[in-house]
Amino acid sequence: MVASVDEPDRDSIAIIGELIAIPTVSRDPNRDLLAYVVGFLGRYGIASDILWNEDRTKGNLWATIGPADVPGVILSGHSDVVPVDGQSWTSDPFVMREADGLLYGRGACDMKGFLGIVLAAVPDLVRRDLKAPVHIAISYDEEFGCTGVRSLIDRLACMPVKPALCIVGEPTSMQVIIGHKGGGMYRVVVTGQAAHSSLAPRAVNAIEYAAEIIAFIKTLAREQAEHGPHDHGYDLSHSTISVNTIQGGAALNIVPDSCVFQFDIRALPDVEARDIVARIEAHVAEAILPRMKAIAPEAGVRIESVVELVGLDTDAAHPAVTFVKRLVRRNDHAKVAYGTEAGLFSASAGIVSVVCGPGSIEQAHKPDEYLALGQVEICARMIERLADQLEDEGLPW
Ligand SMILES: [Zn+2]
Repeated sequence: MVASVDEPDRDSIAIIGELIAIPTVSRDPNRDLLAYVVGFLGRYGIASDILWNEDRTKGNLWATIGPADVPGVILSGHSDVVPVDGQSWTSDPFVMREADGLLYGRGACDMKGFLGIVLAAVPDLVRRDLKAPVHIAISYDEEFGCTGVRSLIDRLACMPVKPALCIVGEPTSMQVIIGHKGGGMYRVVVTGQAAHSSLAPRAVNAIEYAAEIIAFIKTLAREQAEHGPHDHGYDLSHSTISVNTIQGGAALNIVPDSCVFQFDIRALPDVEARDIVARIEAHVAEAILPRMKAIAPEAGVRIESVVELVGLDTDAAHPAVTFVKRLVRRNDHAKVAYGTEAGLFSASAGIVSVVCGPGSIEQAHKPDEYLALGQVEICARMIERLADQLEDEGLPW
């Protein structure tokens, strides 16, 4: 590996460019990227295990460098990127462009940068006599609410020797993140009864009842903000609830019989999104449905879960947290508002997890997304120090 900060890590940069050139937008397959990684690892004698989805278009990749029968460290990243539709890019988002110390491209920071740096470290890792292994985990459909990684999490949960630490390399500017909110996304389908608008009182106006439910959701959101709980480790110290999409109505002179809206809950570890949804359901059953059904018995309200977001709440005093701080040479840690797969690694697989990766979350999902070369260097050094530690004595706890 390249050692000087003045000399950017050309191996990492080259691999990041190759990964960006494989356009793994979440709606599309990631098998080409997997084939690239399988080929890359294979050249160093590392076998990849792929957990495919049903139609074998997408998969999670798992690979181990070092002794598999000792608890080790997972370096984890997702392969999918968000679309570029409607975004104005200076140059082709799927051709990496290096300018002024920045690497531009879709996924540069979220999170092909991290994956490229990890792969670039492989030749060094395989050369070493590691006392504890490094695992590489690459998932799909992270941008769809972390839905892809679950088959890998299930596998990990029943491994005889579980990894001791998972570092999820989402862009944190290499800060150690120990917590993020959980929650969920929900769809509400309001079914009323249509009529000509001149007969409005005899119909069940789905939009108006949806508006009543939305107003109630807003009071719950205000209650969280005013009465908490609060955790001031977060920028926004309380749980949030917001209604973010709505559709309904066909014509201005027809009372609508259907309205669908979706809301999002970002909950602190102490708050159960499920409990909030239960309160909405109870309010609908008591205060809203009886009035709808009095006019049209077939009227109804259905609340569906779209995706569950698992929060992360790693103990700041855990030796694994201290260890990662040592690897990145900083003492601070933080909690963030956005979700990552670390919540699943922690809550569902029982593996102590932190988020720490190159690039800024400010850049993620934006046109002209970029990763600074300085971040590549810091991350490469982190992995180098991890390798040093695993070679010298294994994990220190
Ligand atoms: Zn991401």
